[in-house]
Amino acid sequence: MNKRIIITGSDGLIGSAFRRMKVPSNVEFTFLNRSHADLRSFTQTLECFKSFSPDAIIHLAAKVGGIGANSSQPGTFFHDNILINTNVLEAARQLKVKKLVSFLSTCVFPNQTKFPMTGNQLHDGIPHESNFGYAHAKRMLEVQARAYRKEFGCSFVNVVGTNLYGPNDNFNLKDGHAVASLIHKIYLAKKNGQPLSVWGTGKPLREFVFADDVAKITYWALENYDDEEPLMMSSGVESSIKDLVGVIADKFNFKEKIIWDDSKQDGQLRKPSDDSKLKKLYPDMKFTNLAQGIEKTVAWFEEHYPNIRN
Ligand code: GDP
Repeated sequence: MNKRIIITGSDGLIGSAFRRMKVPSNVEFTFLNRSHADLRSFTQTLECFKSFSPDAIIHLAAKVGGIGANSSQPGTFFHDNILINTNVLEAARQLKVKKLVSFLSTCVFPNQTKFPMTGNQLHDGIPHESNFGYAHAKRMLEVQARAYRKEFGCSFVNVVGTNLYGPNDNFNLKDGHAVASLIHKIYLAKKNGQPLSVWGTGKPLREFVFADDVAKITYWALENYDDEEPLMMSSGVESSIKDLVGVIADKFNFKEKIIWDDSKQDGQLRKPSDDSKLKKLYPDMKFTNLAQGIEKTVAWFEEHYPNIRN
């Protein structure tokens, strides 16, 4: 019998990785986006899910934005995300969906916490002020899943992403995340023969994980993970922003001057997450290294430019 898995928010970075994924022939992905339903409406969510009779759901949809949007509209980010998440989990419960995997990110974890972060630290302190509304709404995914597991026996789990990147990322120069923005910036600097200005000192460390790896772990979690503790999708490898710039510059054969603009924010110095649980449960998982992931992302960028999410 075919297994139908619906994917919410499928037009983004991770959704596009699922579109590239090879799955067994009896597995059928249904890719949902805004045109299918406004997930802030429970009626629309329920009707939409019902029409596809899913066996499982991968829940990626969220209202997301960079630090600027998050800081200036904390109410909107809270409201939209709390509705989306509450509706998706409740519709899945009512329709007796067998498995649901939702997405969290290390950026909704406490601002001050011990490193490396483990899934059970999610509620151990307040999130960073810049994404207060977003973070609190996202944290409720874990609370609702835990409550539904206890009362209704739902197999709803959460996975946690780190700094993700890959094809079809948001390559906006101001609002994108570091990898995508820097690919775009270096592409332009090379084209125009100009120096590159990078935000901050280059010293912060981040765990950059390629989108296809995240999709693979999420699919594995759908099949195999059934625990109330969120699963960290950690590679255990930290790279500095300086390393990242070096790798991207290399791919573009960029030889102009690089200026480190320390008048711009460095943000957190590091925020590593614990990879031990994933390693133990899924020892065969092999992560794409940064150079390979950047190579694929740059190739995609060059092929699609200027038709990129921007
Ligand atoms: P974060 O992990 O939430 O801080 O997310 P980002 O992906 O935005 O990474 C931010 C880090 O990259 C900071 O240390 C920035 O100073 C550095 N960075 C350097 N250049 C850029 C850039 O063009 N865009 C972004 N977003 N960050 C940059």
